[in-house]
Amino acid sequence: MSITRSLLASDLDGTLIPLERDAPRLREVAELVAAIAAAEDLKLAYVTGRHLSLGLAGITEVGLPLPDWFICDVGTSLYRRADGNFEPDEAYRRAMREAFGGLSGEDIRAAIGDLDGLELQEEEKQAEFKVSYYTKGRPEPFAETVQSRLDAAHAKVNLVPSHDPVSGRGLLDVLPAGIAKDYAIRYLHDVTGVDEQHLVYAGDSGNDRAAMLTGYRAIVVGNADEALKKDLGVESVARGIAERIYFAEQPYARGVLEGLRHFGLLP
Ligand SMILES: [Mg+2]
Repeated sequence: MSITRSLLASDLDGTLIPLERDAPRLREVAELVAAIAAAEDLKLAYVTGRHLSLGLAGITEVGLPLPDWFICDVGTSLYRRADGNFEPDEAYRRAMREAFGGLSGEDIRAAIGDLDGLELQEEEKQAEFKVSYYTKGRPEPFAETVQSRLDAAHAKVNLVPSHDPVSGRGLLDVLPAGIAKDYAIRYLHDVTGVDEQHLVYAGDSGNDRAAMLTGYRAIVVGNADEALKKDLGVESVARGIAERIYFAEQPYARGVLEGLRHFGLLP
């Protein structure tokens, strides 16, 4: 197996995939894609909350290339590219099952069962090791019952409540304990053998925070949330890794390009 010399692991929505799909933004994506294609031995991983099929649809829509690794479902699935296809990494699946207490998403659904006001999200939002619900109103009141049913099944989970301000619905994700994007990044570091200073993670929002603080290199794109930037600034100083986090001036793909140049992964 060849050793990876450098690796860009990047979030998609709000980072490589611009929120506005106008022609200038798409040209910026194309500019980054060309720079990456011209680089020698720069491997690519996408790290997204999306399911694989929706992730592939998203990159096709904006003209991003197929990556070497596709990390989906907020870090609970990891696929490697083999020819034109993406195959689940078996060792990663074993790690997810173990983190879930030996259970799969199916087992988790069965253990939670029916609960008034709790409704499974669409099938394309479910994954082998991620179970996602809608809740009537805020999700927090449901978490306690869900947790106690999962405890009874000896499941090990991380419950992630959030709220969709548009629909007014609550969202509740059930993930394997300790698993998020940062876990996947550490795993990629281990399997690729890439040097710490040549692994760059790019992102824009709160679910990228832990991955940005792993101690590898991180690009915070210019359009990222101001509160997140402030928090990362303070936290990276506290951890003594301030020089490893780059706050790009430019948004989206241009910010990623700016950061890759800053860290010397691109000329
Ligand atoms: Mg994002």
